[in-house]
Amino acid sequence: MVLYKPYSDFLTEHAVDPDKRRYILPQEGARHFIDIDHYGKYPYTGLPHKWNDAVAKFSQDSLRTYGIGPWWVQIMLQRLTNAFKEKDQSKILKLSAELGHYIADLHVPLHASSNHDGQLTNQKGIHGFWESRIPELLADKEWDFFIGKADYISNTADYIWKRVLESGAAADTVLQLEKELSKTFPADKKFSFEERNGIVIRQFSSAYSRLYNEKLKGMIERRMRQSVYAVASFWYTAWVNAGQPDLTKLANTNFTAEDQAEFDELNSAWNNKTSVRDHE
Ligand SMILES: [Zn+2]
Repeated sequence: MVLYKPYSDFLTEHAVDPDKRRYILPQEGARHFIDIDHYGKYPYTGLPHKWNDAVAKFSQDSLRTYGIGPWWVQIMLQRLTNAFKEKDQSKILKLSAELGHYIADLHVPLHASSNHDGQLTNQKGIHGFWESRIPELLADKEWDFFIGKADYISNTADYIWKRVLESGAAADTVLQLEKELSKTFPADKKFSFEERNGIVIRQFSSAYSRLYNEKLKGMIERRMRQSVYAVASFWYTAWVNAGQPDLTKLANTNFTAEDQAEFDELNSAWNNKTSVRDHE
């Protein structure tokens, strides 16, 4: 879409804002995940996909405890649709970036599992391993994120629940395969040390990362491609549902002092990381 290209740096930078917000807003954390396994077994038919039905059955408090990711995406989509209706460019860009974040999170299998960082199976660190370490190692050089054109999604709730169920189903594989690999791989070669900004950090070694990625048979790249497609399609869908406003004639094309103050607040919270987080 014509609007987004010139703002790709803004969108990338501010896609992280929801993670930053977890450090100032206690209720933010629940928006990034759902512990789908809490609701029984695949395909979790006991969990209503409609928010009001789910609240009636489990209560808001309980839903928040186990994560509200799939419902939150719907709320953000509605906000983005309204911003398109208002022709408010600053709002459109901020909400697009943030909606993208929540959609991407739900494509990550460990965002749909109560064992979200392998803490229950002695695999701590696997969350960042799947989501950050391996993409940082391979995405730029070896993966392809060209997804062609976005589509209109007529039932966005259905669409996102399907992706969440896939994530939930894949979480077992993610955990299982790492467990197997760690048994056969030499323990002293599993980690490497690297200096970043003057600090030595321990990370999964390249050899271990590549082998794990091979075992996953392209899962990470595939999930990331699906995520890119979903984000573009949700943006497009919001624009269509808003009546296809002319994107060359938008108002509020500059961020206000208030917007800037919010960005600053998020950044300082992120840098200080005063923790109210409860989930990766
Ligand atoms: Zn997140």
